[in-house]
Amino acid sequence: MHRIVLALALLFAPALAPELARAEAPAAGQRLILVTMDGTRWQEVFRGPDKALVAEPKFTHPDWKETVEKAWSTGAAVMPFVHSLPAAGGVLYGNRDAGECMRVTNPMWFSYPGYNELLTGRPDPAITSNDKIWNRNTTFLEWLNRRPAFAGHVRMYGTWDVFPYIINDKRSGVPVNAESAGAHPTETRTMRDAQAALRSAADMRVLYVALGDTDEFAHEGDYAQVLAAMNRDDDFIAELWRMAQADPAWRGRTTLIVTTDHGRGAKPGAAWTEHGSAAAWKLAPADYTIADPEGFPGSDAIWLAAIGPGVRPAAAGTDCLTQSQIAASALTALGEDWKAFDAGAGAPLPFFGGR
Ligand SMILES: [Zn+2]
Repeated sequence: MHRIVLALALLFAPALAPELARAEAPAAGQRLILVTMDGTRWQEVFRGPDKALVAEPKFTHPDWKETVEKAWSTGAAVMPFVHSLPAAGGVLYGNRDAGECMRVTNPMWFSYPGYNELLTGRPDPAITSNDKIWNRNTTFLEWLNRRPAFAGHVRMYGTWDVFPYIINDKRSGVPVNAESAGAHPTETRTMRDAQAALRSAADMRVLYVALGDTDEFAHEGDYAQVLAAMNRDDDFIAELWRMAQADPAWRGRTTLIVTTDHGRGAKPGAAWTEHGSAAAWKLAPADYTIADPEGFPGSDAIWLAAIGPGVRPAAAGTDCLTQSQIAASALTALGEDWKAFDAGAGAPLPFFGGR
């Protein structure tokens, strides 16, 4: 066991070497790995566990209290890989305690509107539910899949059965969960399938993996399992990156982006279990376990981590960065002209050469 850990550590170390991150600017053959962790708050990413929530047995089962306090006492302990990125030439952004700001611009602060904004580069105010409605908007995944250099080389794996609709797999031709043949896979299955695809699909250029346990456990009010899911996701992302760096087709030309579709309530007490704006709450109060016409302030706050040849640390300026900038960032990292995709989309983030 010890030897395996050591071997992994040795394999993993070169992936974090700064010289790799300073590789040349995007050129032909660039690749992208995008991972989303549904409804993961910046608070846990940067601050680590909230002591009040850990002390509350209703949220943190006493059996888990010691593990949380000993193993996951800080944000870096919960998500060590993501926290290692800045020292390796990447970025981790969205720590509001440090004056950083990133948010969604859609008015709902829940999943479908968030994934739509993230993948299309602009909010669509007409998307006001998570209903299984075929997305009328074109995601950057679909746009790429219609271009000769990317056609058939874009894949998506996700745990949520609304993704076929958000990606509009019927129209876009982007396979969603190709390996599970339309079934609604568990997170473990999704992780395994995505890793198998990275290992075996040599011609794949864009891999999007959407993980959902973080949101599921939060809605259940199970704080320890949220932290466990974050830690598991971080492990999975580290392994994906290690695999990419070990593969000549991916090494040195792959950009990794990790982010979330929305935050969660920031008020003390049970607000963290929910998310959504006041407008969203008023539209469908029955969808929420907490009756609060104010909705869940703070759940518009998001964060982002990235590394790869298209990424460089940069001052973020004074404006709050937005989810609508991620699509253009991803396209820029791939060496594509984001304005050809949608000149009205949010411009690339500063870390991707935008301003
Ligand atoms: Zn949710």
